[in-house]
Amino acid sequence: LRDWLDSTFDFTHNIPLRESISGDVTQKLLQRLRDGSLVETVVIRAPQEGVGADTSRKTICLSTQVGCAMGCRFCASGLAGLKRNLSAGEIVGQLMAVCHLEDAANSTPAPQFPSVPAPTIAQRLATFDNIVVMGMGEPFANYDNLLAALRIVNAPWALGFGSRRITVSTSGIVPKILALAEDPLGVRLAVSLHGATNEVRDQIMPVNRTWPLEKLLPACKEFARKRGRMLTLEFILIADLNDSISQARALFGIARDLHAHVNLIPYNTVEGLEWRRPSITRQNRFLDELRARNISVTLRREKGNEIDAACGQLRLRAEKNLNLAS
Ligand code: SAH
Ligand code: SF4
Repeated sequence: LRDWLDSTFDFTHNIPLRESISGDVTQKLLQRLRDGSLVETVVIRAPQEGVGADTSRKTICLSTQVGCAMGCRFCASGLAGLKRNLSAGEIVGQLMAVCHLEDAANSTPAPQFPSVPAPTIAQRLATFDNIVVMGMGEPFANYDNLLAALRIVNAPWALGFGSRRITVSTSGIVPKILALAEDPLGVRLAVSLHGATNEVRDQIMPVNRTWPLEKLLPACKEFARKRGRMLTLEFILIADLNDSISQARALFGIARDLHAHVNLIPYNTVEGLEWRRPSITRQNRFLDELRARNISVTLRREKGNEIDAACGQLRLRAEKNLNLAS
């Protein structure tokens, strides 16, 4: 039985290596996997607008690959290419690592008598509001493991986390958007647009050569129609690339057609890359252009800059340090 268990299952769990905290808002957990690869998971505590300052929404951001093969020109995750896919266990393992960390942080002296049973992982996870698959890697390039992991996260016999509170972000792999639209799991979808025309998108996202906007947008529409859900369009604002008024107007046209929510994200600078975030004035001009046209839009004031929270940055830095140390 032992031999069979050993050859059939992997019992190694993600080993927490380093935890970084930025301004009490973002907490980043670097983990080592069984082959020594590094992966990162982020916990974001965002104060809720209009609610008391002490109430905040807690979100966990999961990675799905070590590195990424998509090669977006602005992103730290893809700089060293793809190392490998994470297994379903390694994806779920990130949630276990976060819950253990929470437990350690909240630990109060154990009651002597009567003893209170420790909360299960599912109970600890239930204290989080959302899970977003927006960490390192392209989730749809690891589709089968992603879906296996999310079924475990959602299943009542496992972690029991509601699928409406899970969002998967893709750079635009059209066949998988259509596959997810057919899947009964019912998780939410976010699409990284970052350019409202092919001309801009082609400059920064190689995926646009395979699935340009005329293929991507109908797939998004199909997803929204099949699932009856509003999807989110993510749009990083990069100075002098996509922050013009004409891009804002083109983005408005796309969002209106898809009934999508737009999430604007000021670019988070990556060491070694020349892209910069626009000034606050230009960010606001872009935002106002969309607001004036009455679509659902938020400008995410970026969190976690001091701890390299942008996708893939902590791992890159840690790997450099580990290489130097060895
Ligand atoms: N591969 C998926 C999910 C992981 S990236 C995707 O591309 O959607 C999660 C989000 O972080 C994407 O919208 C991505 O474009 C964005 N991102 C990557 N690097 C960034 C940076 N330096 N600053 C701000 N956002 C960044
Ligand atoms: Fe990969 Fe997403 Fe980064 Fe693009 S933005 S390289 S798809 S992780």
